[in-house]
Amino acid sequence: MYEIINKKKRGLPLSADEINHVVQGFTTGHVPDYQISALLMAIYFNEMNPAETAALTMAMANSGDRVDLSMLNDKTIDKHSTGGVGDKTTLVVAPIAAAAGLTVAKMSGRGLGHTGGTIDKLESIPGFRVHLSGQEFLEQLAQHGLCIAGQSTNLAPADKKIYALRDATATVDSIPLIAASVMSKKIAAGAKHILLDVKTGSGAFMKEKQDAETLAKTMVEIGQNCGRKTAAIITDMSAPLGRAIGNSLEVVESVQLLQSDKCADPRLDALCRTLAAHMLSLAGVGSMVECEAKVNHAISSGAALKKLADIVEVQGGDRSYIENPEKFKPAAHIIPYPSPQTGYIYAMDTEGIGLAAMALGAGRINPGGNIDHSAGILLHAKTGDYIREGQPLATFHTGSVGKADAAIAKFMASIRFEDVAPQQCPLVYGAIF
Ligand code: URA
Repeated sequence: MYEIINKKKRGLPLSADEINHVVQGFTTGHVPDYQISALLMAIYFNEMNPAETAALTMAMANSGDRVDLSMLNDKTIDKHSTGGVGDKTTLVVAPIAAAAGLTVAKMSGRGLGHTGGTIDKLESIPGFRVHLSGQEFLEQLAQHGLCIAGQSTNLAPADKKIYALRDATATVDSIPLIAASVMSKKIAAGAKHILLDVKTGSGAFMKEKQDAETLAKTMVEIGQNCGRKTAAIITDMSAPLGRAIGNSLEVVESVQLLQSDKCADPRLDALCRTLAAHMLSLAGVGSMVECEAKVNHAISSGAALKKLADIVEVQGGDRSYIENPEKFKPAAHIIPYPSPQTGYIYAMDTEGIGLAAMALGAGRINPGGNIDHSAGILLHAKTGDYIREGQPLATFHTGSVGKADAAIAKFMASIRFEDVAPQQCPLVYGAIF
């Protein structure tokens, strides 16, 4: 280990054998935390070339179970977002893609810090089970073409251990380490096609577009080299996605989108339709124009909404919450908040807004912490909107009124008003195939 750390410290590339030695040694407990920590910091500063990043990905993917989806059809697909605030796209695009004929095998995570997680959102539906056996996962995929489950405990265990150490050693924000971490789980999860939604902006891991592009290219290259048809779409996270932030609030917003004409946020609607069309196109369903038409049909016919209700029921949840989303229990305290001034919303510090939602109870500070599924924020105005003093700006939902003042202060500190309109950010910055 000393030689390996020293080599990376001097900026020299590591061989695949050396990387395997590191990953296996750490996973089995033979290499101590302090040596991995030193190596991670050396990687942070000296980076990894594509061959090293691919070797790290494969070593972590092979550190635990690999899901075998080969008994299913050749249209298996996984979708991953690098995370953000109000990002409920999986709840929308997975049922659309499944309704249009793909087999969507999705293992999702929980939210941490300012970002939400699909599993928490789904658990706001009474009875919904996220812990499924491998057999249940495969059977549901074969029968319904869609399963959204929590990540199985032995999927890429090396990544779990290394991520915890990165979190404690300020080495999370390294492009090769993020790329290998994400892709190790995608490779282990078994789908033949992988669509990556790489976010950029104030609520994303990658605040700068150029970094998002580098991360996207790195991940696509890894996927392609591992025999998976992989594409990445670089999308905007300079404002929360949609109007709802918080678990059950986001399920309701997703259902409204799938109800065809009820989505209040055109950017969320457009992004979901674009991502779903890219999933279909990646899986070879047709041209982008044909795929867009199939997506629109899956929504307008009600097939995607039915697909979501079906899998909620199969996974133990109460489908009537999808059919009648007004059934979700509201938070104990709902606090309307009018705009304190007149002007354009010029910019939003999206991470700050995510932290405000977390402070209301919608998110957790530490892994394993509790969350309040009904807590969160509904936005009535967003970047680019002109608002007059006294008009509704946001509504805060919380189970504990004592949490509201700090959350509202955090929210207000995250909003910048100006007399002039801002330039609207593109929704999609580019695609990498
Ligand atoms: N998400 C992951 O799975 N891994 C990272 O390193 C960062 C975000």
